[in-house]
Parts: sequence; structure tokens; C-alpha cells
Amino acid sequence: MARFQLDVFQTRLLDWFREFQRPLPWRKDYLPYQVWVSEIMLQQTQVTTVLPYYERWMRTLPDIKSLAQASEDTVLKQWEGLGYYSRASNLQKAAKIIGEQHENEFPSEFEIIRTLPGIGRYTAGAIASIVFNQNKPAVDGNVVRVICRLMDFRDNPKSRERVKTLWRLAEDWIPQGKARFFNQALMELGAMICSPKQPTCLLCPVQSCCQGFAAGSIEQIPAKSKRTPLKSIETMLAVIQDQKKFLIQKRPLEGLMGGLWEFPNVQRKKKEKKEKALVEEIRRQHGFNITVEQLLITIKHGYTSYKVQLHCFLCVPEEEIAHSDKRTVKWVTLNELRQFSFPAAHVKLIQILHDKMKNE
Ligand code: SF4
Repeated sequence: MARFQLDVFQTRLLDWFREFQRPLPWRKDYLPYQVWVSEIMLQQTQVTTVLPYYERWMRTLPDIKSLAQASEDTVLKQWEGLGYYSRASNLQKAAKIIGEQHENEFPSEFEIIRTLPGIGRYTAGAIASIVFNQNKPAVDGNVVRVICRLMDFRDNPKSRERVKTLWRLAEDWIPQGKARFFNQALMELGAMICSPKQPTCLLCPVQSCCQGFAAGSIEQIPAKSKRTPLKSIETMLAVIQDQKKFLIQKRPLEGLMGGLWEFPNVQRKKKEKKEKALVEEIRRQHGFNITVEQLLITIKHGYTSYKVQLHCFLCVPEEEIAHSDKRTVKWVTLNELRQFSFPAAHVKLIQILHDKMKNE
């Protein structure tokens, strides 16, 4: 059985990171704003997916001040496509706090970082260590997997006791003064070598320290928890067209995809007639009657916690109506639709509308 020698492990891991780390934009100067934004974007999302969004974000919102002062719509538009929109709103809330309470300087004290909106224990640890080189652990999914395999932990990594051990080890293992590189090296190893399926143990710089490899138990680690099947919902959506404009509405700030724009829609209750339910909902929400002209398309889209079947109907108002332009309801042209941020399934629909109009 391989013996876990901490000093050998630290040296090999750091040497490997120095040579093989990916050249990422936020690793150039380790500036607080850059690392913070990257860490928030990387929650639930892989580096290769994040890179173009990160570049786009930095072009429009290059620093704390510009983020604090931007309109909510600009912030959400820059985030469009990354999902979990509360992350973008929290970034802006935190930027405003940093502006008001810290003169636009990102705070370096761990306890203060931890109080900022959207920053939990992991993100605070990542920023404190990566930016300020403080001896704080940062345990994300990659680090959990790497430590469990290294130590041959085969039990549930989410149990209270195991979580405690993982954070304690991640802290104890940090070599003094090297938190910035050590924490990133652990995460990088998880992303590049010790991947969830088929880790490339033969290329692993710390294979000689790995208890799981020695025991041949890698495939069972970390222990899988049972997945709950995704909830399925069916929704009717109205593309209401009037004088070449479309009606859109803003979702409430609190809640799922808060602050994004959408076409009016309603979730289908058991077996109810789709068109009738849609007509009633538009009358209830917007106070006018519509005629449902045709089903444009049914879009199937999977979000993280549910999957949706979206029946998109082309509709027209039955009466003459005033085109209101309020903070939460607008009438916009097809081209203007692209200026607003929408949930992913609605973005698909907008592309379909563009293609349809081009061919007419
Ligand atoms: Fe992961 Fe394999 Fe390296 Fe162990 S030897 S840390 S399982 S890649």
C-alpha cells in the first residue's frame, strides 16, 4: 500500500502545476476582481465554457466600479447563457457594497469577503488564497474527488463528518506561504488528471501517494449519491405580435432566472386545453384578449433541476391596444429582442423567429 507522505505530495503537486497549469486570463496578475468574477462563473460550469463569457464580461464590465454602476439589464445580458442568474445579480450587489463600504477596493479579510452576496465558504477561501495567498482551504467538487481518492475514502463525501474531514485536510495540507498555487494545483489536478470518469492515473504526478490507486478502488470513489429524476413541466408560451412588435415581460427579481425577460407564458395544469389556458392567462396578466393563430414550435429544454416542454404559439391581440413601455413590460421589434437577456429556451425561440421571418 502506498504511503501518504505530505511533503512528497506537496512538492510533486506544486512542481506539476508550475509546468502544466493552463494559462487562464485570471491567472495573469491574480487581481481580486478578475479572480472573483472567474470563481463565480466557474460555479457549476467548466473552464472552457466560461472563457468566452469571461472575456465578454470583462470588455463591458472591466472593474468593480463599472459593475456597480451598470444597469441590471446590462449585467444580465453579459451573463446570458451561463445560467443561475442570481449569480450575476449577487455580483452586482456585492460590487455596490464594495463601492459604498470599501471605496471600490476588494476587501482582503476572509471574514468580510465571506459576508458579500453570493460568496460562500468555498468562494471566500478561493479568493483569500488565490488573490491574497492566505492559508485558507477551498474545497470544490474537484478537490473533494482528489482528496477522497488520495485517501481512499469510499463513503459518502457529503456526510457531515466527511465534509469536515475534507475541509480540515485541505487546510492542513497547504504548505506555508503557498496557498495560491497549492489550492489551484489541487483543483487543476481534479480538472485535468483526476477526472470524474477514467482518471489518467498513469500521468498523475502524485500517483505514488495515492491510497485509492494502490487499493484499486478509484472507480468507486467518490461514492455516488442517488440522483433524483428531473421534474418535467409543460408550458404554453405566447409570442404576441402586433404591428411588427412583440410583447415581452420581465421576471420578478427574486426566484428562478430572476430579472430575465421572457415571452408571457403559463405552466399547464393537468390535461387542460393549451390555447384556452393561454388566452385566459394573457387576459389575467395583461388585460386584453388574444387570438391564438398557430403553434410555431414545441421546444424541449433541460435546465438543472427540471426539463421543460415549451409550446410556443403565435398570437395576435383581438382588440386595438396601447403599446405600454414599462420597466417590466415592453413591446419590441424582432431585432430589439437581442438586446434583452432571456432564459435559454426563449433564446432558442428568438433564433427560430429570426429564421422564420427571414424566410417570409
Ligand atoms: Fe487521481 Fe489517479 Fe492521481 Fe490518484 S493516481 S490522484 S486517482 S489521478
